[in-house]
Amino acid sequence: MRAGGWEKRELIKGGWGSTILFTVIASAIIKPAMSAGYVYNPVYLKHDTGQHVEVAARLEAIIAYLEKTGLTSQLTLIEPRPATVDEIALVHTRGYIKEIEDTAREGGGWLDPDTVMSAGSYQAALYAAGGLIRAVEAIMGGEVSSAFALVRPPGHHATSQSAKGFCLFNNIAIAASYALAEYKLERILIIDFDVHHGNGTQETFYDNPQVMYISTHQYPFYPGTGSLDETGGGAAKGTNINIPLPAGCGDAEYLKVFEQIIVPAARRFKPRLILVSAGYDTHRDDPLAMMEVSVTGFGQMAEIIKGLADELCGGRLALTLEGGYNLDALAASVKATLDVLLGNNAIDPLGQPPHSPGKTDIDRLIEAIKEIHKLP
Ligand SMILES: [Zn+2]
Repeated sequence: MRAGGWEKRELIKGGWGSTILFTVIASAIIKPAMSAGYVYNPVYLKHDTGQHVEVAARLEAIIAYLEKTGLTSQLTLIEPRPATVDEIALVHTRGYIKEIEDTAREGGGWLDPDTVMSAGSYQAALYAAGGLIRAVEAIMGGEVSSAFALVRPPGHHATSQSAKGFCLFNNIAIAASYALAEYKLERILIIDFDVHHGNGTQETFYDNPQVMYISTHQYPFYPGTGSLDETGGGAAKGTNINIPLPAGCGDAEYLKVFEQIIVPAARRFKPRLILVSAGYDTHRDDPLAMMEVSVTGFGQMAEIIKGLADELCGGRLALTLEGGYNLDALAASVKATLDVLLGNNAIDPLGQPPHSPGKTDIDRLIEAIKEIHKLP
């Protein structure tokens, strides 16, 4: 918008007076340039997992790449704050929160076969949840139109009373609950494109008609949940949309699913805010899963999500980092997503062509989901 406004102003030939007048009018009627923010703080590196795939180096790689490519200078840095215990307790039991605090105080330890804590993990986890809350606050307060919380530990597997799959507190569920309570939003849409199903997020809002949860994930796969027939309970029936995909899906299949399921479902739901569990373990080079998405594909998915936010809720869009374990692919994919938020042209720096369409047949699956959810 900045460039467009300038060009139009140059067309005015009536001297400085009319140029200034036009500029005043233009600034009133033309929307301001897209402002996007990111949340980051070195506190997230204090969650020390030792020999693990979910490591501090993930965030270090992202930040180094954003700095190298000049993106950080285009973005507004949003300083995180720790979430309060009351905010965490919107989703988790107080007993569980105390267990996490106590485990950190004792120096850390394993909570399940995949999830480990260090002495700094409780503080990092409070700041991870608080980081996404700050992103929501910055958006609702008009400081930025969209934001990406580059935080860890991730969150979407954590349930009300247990850690799971590298996750301690469910950052997106906490931020959504906070937004419902603090801003009295009627409806929030959560889109989760991590390769794993966000069992904790689904569980949190399963009976809540104010939050629609849509997840694309490899299936069957960890954590085992995410089947077609998990559609929401009671008054929330239909607000939980699982898109369980076979291994091998790439850009073409994801775009089909986004266009044919996520877009119509979002339009029907009419959210006031869109939150995204952005997991990049769907990338073709990721060591944990078997999907084939490219950096370009992540940019295209971000375009669709941003389009929905612009169309449905004044651009209000906050993403939070979940998975993604190939450091080069992760950094490039996060950048492609941020490029979309900024209105830049996203380019695949890894130089990989989008994978050819039609390799994996998901048409019957899409028809089944449309049928279950009565989508056009
Ligand atoms: Zn994942």
